[in-house]
Amino acid sequence: MAKTYNDIYMDARVRFKQAGISEYSQEARILLAHVAGKKPEEFYRDLRLYTSTKYEEEAEAMIKRRLEGEPLAYLTGRWEFYGLPLVITKDVLIPRIDTEIVAETAIKLVRGRSVRVLDLCCGSGCIGLAIAANVQESKLVLADNSDAALKVARTNAVLNRLSSRTSCIKSDVLGAPEIFLGAFDMIVSNPPYIKTADIAGLDPSVREYEPIGALDGGESGLDFYESICKNWVRLLNEGGFLVFECGIGQSMDVREIGEKNGLDYIKIVKDTLDIDRVVVFRKL
Ligand code: GLN
Repeated sequence: MAKTYNDIYMDARVRFKQAGISEYSQEARILLAHVAGKKPEEFYRDLRLYTSTKYEEEAEAMIKRRLEGEPLAYLTGRWEFYGLPLVITKDVLIPRIDTEIVAETAIKLVRGRSVRVLDLCCGSGCIGLAIAANVQESKLVLADNSDAALKVARTNAVLNRLSSRTSCIKSDVLGAPEIFLGAFDMIVSNPPYIKTADIAGLDPSVREYEPIGALDGGESGLDFYESICKNWVRLLNEGGFLVFECGIGQSMDVREIGEKNGLDYIKIVKDTLDIDRVVVFRKL
């Protein structure tokens, strides 16, 4: 018997709930709207309509992938960060809500100024693009060692009409800058910071789907902080800011790395769970 969108929606909700997905209603709606090629509000409007067998099959395949642990963002290929729509592929980390605090901290530091900003390990470009969107006169350089990630970042710059103030460059952040990039007023980075030994213990939805290269911060988890402070801070103008995201329990180590490299520690900002999440320095 033919099913309505509502039949499929109700079924997906129950199965997502049983699987322990906390936002089960929202996820079911977003996923099923995506399969239908509709916006979530259009999907709601059309709940009483009958679907095709093809839709039913496609929806079932997506529901199964979600139940097996694949994150919603990789299934829909879309995500929102700091109010910006983003394209997301398995080549980039899914932007975390914690990282919005990094973007916000950075935006507040330079708002209203015509600044050049470098986003190291940019991934989807989420932090850099949030800055570009909210600091009108800013110019952004987004750097990553992954060609696939840079392609996503470029797509997101275009999607948000920020490409005229944004450039993307391939860089190995664990080494020194290889090409002339000019001077910057701020460097921001959410680098890989998980200790290599801790990768195996990550939640399967992260470990099995997200790019390990965006997570693995080396034996201590601090390799990227060391390299950025040693090799990249020289690109900062006098008075320029360095804004890092860090992992749980890393803020003091990160502070020490910055200070050891001659930076002035400014502050630590906590995330919504009261965890030290952002470390800010200034180059004097
Ligand atoms: N916050 C991410 C996680 O917990 C890690 C991000 C990173 O290594 N930069 O999975």
